Amino acid sequence: MKTKADILLIYTGGTIGMIKDFETGALKAFNFDELLQNIPELKLLEHKIDTVSFERPIDSSNMKPEFWLQIAYLIEENYESYDGFVVLHGSDTMSYSSSALSFMFENLTKPVIFTGSQLPIGDLRTDAKENLITSIQIAGLQRYGQPVINEVCLYFEYKLYRANRTTKINAEHFQAFSSPNYPALVESGVHLSVNHEALWKPNRRRKMKLHPELNDQIALIKIFPGINRSLLEHIFAKEDLKGVILETYGSGNAPTEEWFVKLLKDSVAKGIIVVNVTQCSGGSVNMGQYETSSQLKKIGVVSGKDITTEAAVVKLMYLLAQDLSPKVFKTIFETSLRGEML
Ligand code: ASP
Repeated sequence: MKTKADILLIYTGGTIGMIKDFETGALKAFNFDELLQNIPELKLLEHKIDTVSFERPIDSSNMKPEFWLQIAYLIEENYESYDGFVVLHGSDTMSYSSSALSFMFENLTKPVIFTGSQLPIGDLRTDAKENLITSIQIAGLQRYGQPVINEVCLYFEYKLYRANRTTKINAEHFQAFSSPNYPALVESGVHLSVNHEALWKPNRRRKMKLHPELNDQIALIKIFPGINRSLLEHIFAKEDLKGVILETYGSGNAPTEEWFVKLLKDSVAKGIIVVNVTQCSGGSVNMGQYETSSQLKKIGVVSGKDITTEAAVVKLMYLLAQDLSPKVFKTIFETSLRGEML
């Protein structure tokens, strides 16, 4: 049985490969070959590692759907030739990108692991080496001749998470991510401890399919006490607006003021998809539990359940590109497609 895996390492940018600009003191991306020279340990791994880099590595604050596609095509083109993929990416928008790829790939039967670091790989105290090396080891895990991980994941600071369950929670700590509503898939200690129960179970008879289309005609609105009426009315009046993620309070609660409910009601009636996602980092939307969410349920607002905002944004983009009727859209959005919600 094969124990050595072939891994493709894709470098998109991020702190992991940055160095300090001597003049300004700011971190900027540098050459990928230099990045590899900083990790001679890679040569000690039992797996075969090939690398490919974005022509111009980016800080992930500059990420956008066309770059997600670039990563997705790189994986699709090389899908048959490799056992697993590790994507080096800035941590700032890593949860968005990895969630996006989780929806774009249907029937994934190989690991796609996003990782990065809080400190550049050349820094003495860097967290990059552990993140990178363990990501490669996890991507190479096999059982009965098949990959152990068959989904898009995010590895950071000793934990592997389902990507579309993650959110960046800290700009300072090495533990920069959390997965508030789903357990870690692997924990790295003296051994790699795999939570087999929590892993995505693929159907290996189905062929992997890439869905490259995304619709970005969406808005993300976080409500707050005193939110401005005319601003909201302007947003919802935008001609080609197709969907809105509404970040509400607690278990999906929002003001019951007449103008607010009417605005949502008219927008839903016009065919704009409104998804209710909680501002809380953990827990779930449960429309109807309080009077302040019953009105949203009544007018046809979609429940985001326990989805993260990051996953909700990209799931909305993904499903809007599929031209579904509002009724079917609601049913599909409220269904777990890649393990992103209950
Ligand atoms: N600004 C960086 C980025 O997201 C931060 C990081 O890599 O951790 O590209």
